[in-house]
Amino acid sequence: MQITAVHDLTVRLQGSIANAVVDFSSHTVSLVAIVTDQRRGGAPVTGIAFNSIGRFAQSGILRERLIPRLLDAKPETLTLPDGSGLSPAAIANTAMANEKPGGHGDRAAAVAALELATWDLNAKLAGEPAYAYIARALGEAPPTARAPVYAAGGYYYPKASASTLGDELRRYQDQGYRAFKIKIGGASLAADIARIETAIDVAGAADRVAVDANGRFDAHTASAYAEAMQPYGLRWYEEPGDPLDYSLMAALTKEYEGALATGENLFSEMETRNLLQFASLRPALDVLQMDPGLSYGLTEYLTTLAHVEAAGFHRRQCVPHGGHLINLHVVTALGLGGCEAYPGVFQPFGGFAPQCRVADGMVRPTDAPGFGLEQKPELAPHLKTLLEG
Ligand code: MG
Repeated sequence: MQITAVHDLTVRLQGSIANAVVDFSSHTVSLVAIVTDQRRGGAPVTGIAFNSIGRFAQSGILRERLIPRLLDAKPETLTLPDGSGLSPAAIANTAMANEKPGGHGDRAAAVAALELATWDLNAKLAGEPAYAYIARALGEAPPTARAPVYAAGGYYYPKASASTLGDELRRYQDQGYRAFKIKIGGASLAADIARIETAIDVAGAADRVAVDANGRFDAHTASAYAEAMQPYGLRWYEEPGDPLDYSLMAALTKEYEGALATGENLFSEMETRNLLQFASLRPALDVLQMDPGLSYGLTEYLTTLAHVEAAGFHRRQCVPHGGHLINLHVVTALGLGGCEAYPGVFQPFGGFAPQCRVADGMVRPTDAPGFGLEQKPELAPHLKTLLEG
């Protein structure tokens, strides 16, 4: 089989929300398509994916470096040994030809979009959903369990009133969510504690509420929040300080008894290895949020997961960042601890397809082939543009 074209499209996120650090209204995502000479139902089989949410599209890296390398490669170097599809590892490795080690950043997300599109393609060629294809590719039976899911929201809105946060969380409850994550660090500590109490009131229990500082705090502020939040027994306290400040994290593990969470801004297995070695994270407690779509794709994530388990963590402590259909399939396939969802925000990518019913805090992908991105109505016009090349 052969790649006939690779397309990418820059799509702007909708909405005007912010966390403690970032205004998302200017953010973009790279939607990519790997078109092949294989045909099903009269149309070429095409793998589709994107580079997760929360950073930026990478059309420059894709068009100037990665895509030309794939198109220049001999087709037989990119296929699986049995010819049933493209090799995700070969796609990632070929895309990375002539790239030096380190400096992961934006490149890691650009490679991830292509690598994940390969899984979508292979699942479509096999005529099955990605979660089942991924499980079988790893020698496991396709899972039948639903995955725990929480609604990520609670951002700082430009025109918030006293009831904005509670109203938002109640909307998520009406959609079947039982646990939430809200932002902290964009207001005073006292105001954030009031937000936390509102969220606990709506959720009915503090262990259904996580908080996310998005890496904003210095060591002093991180400690002050830890001390103030400790009595509540929250689900987790996410990214208190800079994602690479492992010593800040190590210090917090000594003073905060609840779970800490981090990892969404680590973009390679080596960065996770350093986290595991130097941040003193507690294997029975803390939560790891590395996101395949930001860190070279699923092949690299599987290596990362092996390091996590070798360090004594259970894979149920892995709850990838992302909140979209691709990571729902990854979480389901690998039996991870759960996934986030952005039911109201980050369109057209956030949340799941309407056919993925969320009930009692659990969700399951549909049996549409691949990641089922074609089932998400908000994505439909962008997929049309993408495939027109
Ligand atoms: Mg986060």
